[in-house]
Amino acid sequence: MIAELRNVSKTYNEVAALDNVNLEIREGEIFGLLGPSGSGKTTILRILALIEKPISGEVYFNGTKVTERNIQELRMQTTMVFQKTAVFNTTVYNNVAYGLKLRKVAEDTIKKQVSDVLDLVGLQGFEKRYANRLSGGEQQRVALARALVLRTKLVLLDEPTANLDPRNAAVIENVIDKANHELGTTFVVATHNIFQAKSLPQRIALLRNGRIEQSGTAAEVFSSLSKTLASFAAVENTFVGEAKFSAGGTTVVEIGNGVQIETTAHVQGKAQVFIDPREVIVSKKPFASSARNVFKCRIVEIVDAGKVVKVKVDIKGKLFTVQITRRSLDDLKLHVGSDVFLTFKASSVQAI
Ligand code: ADP
Repeated sequence: MIAELRNVSKTYNEVAALDNVNLEIREGEIFGLLGPSGSGKTTILRILALIEKPISGEVYFNGTKVTERNIQELRMQTTMVFQKTAVFNTTVYNNVAYGLKLRKVAEDTIKKQVSDVLDLVGLQGFEKRYANRLSGGEQQRVALARALVLRTKLVLLDEPTANLDPRNAAVIENVIDKANHELGTTFVVATHNIFQAKSLPQRIALLRNGRIEQSGTAAEVFSSLSKTLASFAAVENTFVGEAKFSAGGTTVVEIGNGVQIETTAHVQGKAQVFIDPREVIVSKKPFASSARNVFKCRIVEIVDAGKVVKVKVDIKGKLFTVQITRRSLDDLKLHVGSDVFLTFKASSVQAI
């Protein structure tokens, strides 16, 4: 067991963030911490990183109990990548080399190790580029490279793909998988994305209100759609329904009130579907396309989220959220009460 929490509790200003958590991280695995926002994922990572202390319970690292005496030394054996990673305002090389310089590693070794890790994250040739001028996905890979170059056995990742589009998220997931296979790095990955939790880690723990509600292999946890999983319906555009194969070779999921969603995922029986709010097209007139899902609906709410806007629509009593740019909102002259069409492809509907 590379890391272990035994009966760990944590409170902030008397509010419980973790309540008697027991967790075993095995050497060489990718472990997923899945839970909605505020469920305690970051707190667990911070305790595993030994930068936060529990109010009760014990933390073990490679079988050794963490104490005041050994905490400094043990802290060096884990690296945490925070959710809001800021790359340093310098070159990619300097960003990645930084931790090794601090550890007084010889310059030649640093060069070789930086080059190796940039290969691993797919940023070869980026050494001289300025890190803060890279795209969000590339910056996230720099952050990962900065952690991986230290070659600690345990790496903790807090929502590593939270702000990325699906394509860049897949790149990051591949890097994590590759580092796990090629370097043998053990990862603990916090995520609120059930689909990421299903595909990336070997084992997961389902967190809710600071408690672990279920844990096991992804297959075990997902095979029974638990109450906790169902509560993820609070995540935008996640619906529970009955899935059947359609004559056309796709799957149709009936999510209630006669609303049917077509997906290319192969599921049957009780299923959960998710539609990325960014993959839905909003139009005032039916939109000519081969997309299998088209719904006529009415806007019930418009939420300003900075550069983008979240438009909530009602489809026969089911609330869908669509994310568009402020510019599209203005161009289409959309307001609460507008009748619109939503269009999305069967291949952009995820289902489990
Ligand atoms: P998650 O990572 O799953 O979103 P967190 O571990 O960040 O959850 O938070 C768990 C709970 O602890 C939340 O209710 C949160 O508001 C609270 N919390 C976390 N950090 C602090 C802090 N520094 N001060 C006060 N409350 C905190």
